[in-house]
Amino acid sequence: MADIDIPAITLNDGTTFAELGLGTYKLTGEEGIAAIEAGIRTGYRVIDTAVNYGNEHEVGEAVRRAVAAGVVERDDIVVTTKIPGRHHGYDEAIASGRESNATLGLGRIDLLLIHWPNPSVGKHLDTFKGMLALREEGLVRSVGVSNFTEAMLQELIDATGVVPVVNQVELHPYFPQGALRAFHAEHGIRTESWSPLARRTELLTEPLIRDLAEAYQVSPTQVVLRWHVQLGSTPIPKSSDADRQRENADVFGFALDDDHVEAISALERGRLWDGDPLTHEEF
Ligand code: NAP
Repeated sequence: MADIDIPAITLNDGTTFAELGLGTYKLTGEEGIAAIEAGIRTGYRVIDTAVNYGNEHEVGEAVRRAVAAGVVERDDIVVTTKIPGRHHGYDEAIASGRESNATLGLGRIDLLLIHWPNPSVGKHLDTFKGMLALREEGLVRSVGVSNFTEAMLQELIDATGVVPVVNQVELHPYFPQGALRAFHAEHGIRTESWSPLARRTELLTEPLIRDLAEAYQVSPTQVVLRWHVQLGSTPIPKSSDADRQRENADVFGFALDDDHVEAISALERGRLWDGDPLTHEEF
């Protein structure tokens, strides 16, 4: 039984996802395993990793320990991993997925994403087709993308007839991604917010966020994460600390007024780290 019941949602392929998940960037080693297992005990069911985080083993081990301890059933967890830029291409994507599956050691990959589109390489469509082959084989349950623009999503949909289940993108009050979210809503793609807390920038000390925290008797992080939930995007806050993980997940007992959601969105000022997928590439 989890401490906090994070509501489940259904993705466009019929699989279950959650309104909030756990980021794991930099959670490595035995400490990382303990932190991820603590997150599962708190109630996180969507766990985000990537080949490039170097912690797929740790994520798999945390899930195995939580399952062995009777905290959760394997099938109630959604582990997401991502194909790095250096593995783009049809055959390369298949090999990458097989390797991730072996490293995770959980029997299958629940959700596989393309980490960055890398348009100058021009292989994101072939990569996606490789992922569909892995899905066909049963090694991957769901396929999605990360850091894709509307045009790139449309290209995948037109070429394959498959709508990615999620697009995981930079999204926080400084960059609310209004146009992209509208495109997602129109096509049944779930938005997922990376760096949902703007990675501890001055966001959490913004006067508006502090005032709303006081008004709703919650913490600044809870105001921000509740804003994501009300936008209909799944935030994946990362925390190495069990108390902060609990604080971050505990956002389902209050609701922000619509005008407060809009006021938070008005903090918009643009991307924080120059991660425009048309120009930024990662390998
Ligand atoms: P984030 O979740 O916005 O912020 C994480 C930072 O906030 C950490 O320094 C954490 O420190 C701190 N923090 C967490 N909860 C807090 C709380 N309640 N109070 C105060 N500080 C708190 O940033 P992120 O890690 O960049 O993004 C989240 C996840 O998104 C990543 O872990 C990764 O899984 C994913 N991601 C994906 C992409 C992509 O290209 N697809 C890019 C970036 C990130 P402590 O750990 O000490 O609590």
